[in-house]
Amino acid sequence: MAEPCALCGATWGGRRGTFEGKELNFCCDACGTFYGLALGEVKDSTGWPIVDRLFLDQVHGLEAEGWAEHAGSRLEFHVEGLADGSKVTLFRPNGPPQRKSST
Ligand SMILES: [Zn+2]
Repeated sequence: MAEPCALCGATWGGRRGTFEGKELNFCCDACGTFYGLALGEVKDSTGWPIVDRLFLDQVHGLEAEGWAEHAGSRLEFHVEGLADGSKVTLFRPNGPPQRKSST
């Protein structure tokens, strides 16, 4: 049984990539590359030293809605990139990071 892709949740593929000291599963090279780029964008906009988890909830072609979490805070963002995952063309947080409720 394949682990889902850490970026898009697809359950096919089986590429591995290491980010923030954790080995993650990706469906394709584009997802693996783009995950690293999106991590950088999140760090730039939040000042977080590391990102614990990042995921794209909804992918519409080259655009996606995603979120990232670190130390109980969550940043939601809109991101656009190239089809091969080699470049982020637009990164826009949907506001400042929010504390996650503990419920
Ligand atoms: Zn993927």
